[in-house]
Amino acid sequence: MITGDHRFYKMAYDEQMATYSVHAVNLSTYPLGETDKIVTMFSAERGMIRAVAKGARKPGAKIGGRSEPLNVNQYLLAKGRNLDIITQAESIGSFPRLRHDLTRLSFALYFAELTQSFGQGLSDESAAFFEYLGLSLSRMADSEEDPVLLSLEFELHLLDELGYKPELTICIACAEPMTEYRLAIFHHDSGGLICSDCHRGKNQESVQEHFSFEYGEGAQSNAVLQERKYKPYAGHVTTHITPLVWKRLVTMSSGLKHDQLETNASEGMIRANQAARKLIQTYLEHRSSRRMKALDLIDV
Ligand SMILES: [Zn+2]
Repeated sequence: MITGDHRFYKMAYDEQMATYSVHAVNLSTYPLGETDKIVTMFSAERGMIRAVAKGARKPGAKIGGRSEPLNVNQYLLAKGRNLDIITQAESIGSFPRLRHDLTRLSFALYFAELTQSFGQGLSDESAAFFEYLGLSLSRMADSEEDPVLLSLEFELHLLDELGYKPELTICIACAEPMTEYRLAIFHHDSGGLICSDCHRGKNQESVQEHFSFEYGEGAQSNAVLQERKYKPYAGHVTTHITPLVWKRLVTMSSGLKHDQLETNASEGMIRANQAARKLIQTYLEHRSSRRMKALDLIDV
């Protein structure tokens, strides 16, 4: 039987033990009650955390600005029954230059959005990813580097950390090495390329084996069966890919140093960079089953 005294000691013990300190980047916030906010953050020590910033929406509250997305703080948090509570926030960084550039701000918010979507899978590497996120935000805010390429680098790094690195060197169906003359599509479910032969249905066996193709129920019409015989992945999410886009992805994902200051990049190269980045965004969205919204306001 638990007596009142025991309960008192247990509470005192819990309170004493239940504060902890983290370094974290704020990813998003939403309002709670009259004046509070819930802050989702990625911390070096514990990965993803959701915590309440009490009074953060009161005019002039010190925690107000510090709890905004993209701010980096050292927090003291108290364990709560449902959500933990921010008891102290000391600013480490806030990237003020982002506020003057909508494109760079949108990309920085996109980094936060991606981190929020995939952060649970990064807990084991939280310290390294926290550092990488901070560095990426700082490059987006303060360098002259191309935001599209910075973003592509971030996206590929994230995929690598999560173990979803795209397969760009061979065809995922027939396993033959990929060349620019055999490129066809990127298959988002498999996270890799399909060569033109497999795509056109020349290598039916390998394609059907890869996609575990079944002829289906008798209810399916001959036309559907015929179609599926050649494109067993019809209806899956795929993206056509050009040699320039492919080369950009191969260069970036193999970690080769790309020229971030491509001030003289041709119109074709700029478009290829954008297409490569969009393809990887689609792949990430497919992986998370969530559409990213941070870049909706800008044309990239
Ligand atoms: Zn193939």
